[in-house]
Amino acid sequence: MTRVLRTRAELREALAGAPEPVGLVPTMGWLHEGHRALMRRARQENATTVVTIFVNPRQFNVASDYTRYPRNEERDLAIAQAEGVDIVWAPPVEEVYPPGFDTAVLVGAVARPLEGAARPGHFDGVATVVAILFGIVGARRAYFGQKDAQQVMVIRQMARDLAIGTEVVACPTVREQDGLALSSRNVHLTPDERAAAPVLRRALLAARARWDDGERDAERLRGAMVETLAEEPLVEVEYVSVADGVTLRELDILDGPALASLAVRLGATRLIDNEILDPGTRPG
Ligand code: AMP
Repeated sequence: MTRVLRTRAELREALAGAPEPVGLVPTMGWLHEGHRALMRRARQENATTVVTIFVNPRQFNVASDYTRYPRNEERDLAIAQAEGVDIVWAPPVEEVYPPGFDTAVLVGAVARPLEGAARPGHFDGVATVVAILFGIVGARRAYFGQKDAQQVMVIRQMARDLAIGTEVVACPTVREQDGLALSSRNVHLTPDERAAAPVLRRALLAARARWDDGERDAERLRGAMVETLAEEPLVEVEYVSVADGVTLRELDILDGPALASLAVRLGATRLIDNEILDPGTRPG
């Protein structure tokens, strides 16, 4: 049986008697196959699996995005139960940020470009809440999706700098048949927008194909993405990027691991996706 807990105290008490090692899967709920893959991996590699469900107000830079974020706890709990999760922590906001809470975790250079530039304050909110979760749970490992590639890098930097012993494990992006990365936000797409959405993946694969053919000029790879995205008039491009795989600085020439990524708007919904360009990787 999955135990559903609300307070920090309940969670600490449950973890005090739980078999080690503990694997943590932080989520904002509206669980889908991407989350399920993280839960399965956590279960395989740990004796106790903890899933957190918390729509973190501090990581939304637009208030309406927070209020319209989809929520369905009953359904989420059924999914966690089906995946054999031991503990779900679904706290109210004041359990995570009690009265008087007055700390923020600010990650540096790796948090600034791309999503950090497009969503000011977003990664401060992410790093802060994940530091709290790491502190409360004390897990051996925590599981995150490669779909949010920059998030993984920001959290790794935070955990390293703050000497938090939790290992950050990145898991492959889970996709629909047509290539669209699963996301809780997909639920907001109209049928026309949903039909257009696979172009994100096609754009990244266009860049990947050029890269596989030996193209190392970053601007040409960005051009391949922009050209492909232009096939869908509903898509409004926010950014396309080919950046250093370690620093996330935009590249002129690729001479090592790189990350191709993009963010677009489809109507009122913002979607992101990415592709690692590194010898030895297959399209992800
Ligand atoms: P979220 O609930 O959207 O904050 O996501 C919680 C975790 O699930 C994050 O680590 C995400 O990167 C991960 N995730 C979201 N979508 C996917 C996906 N399609 N494939 C794999 N992981 C995902």
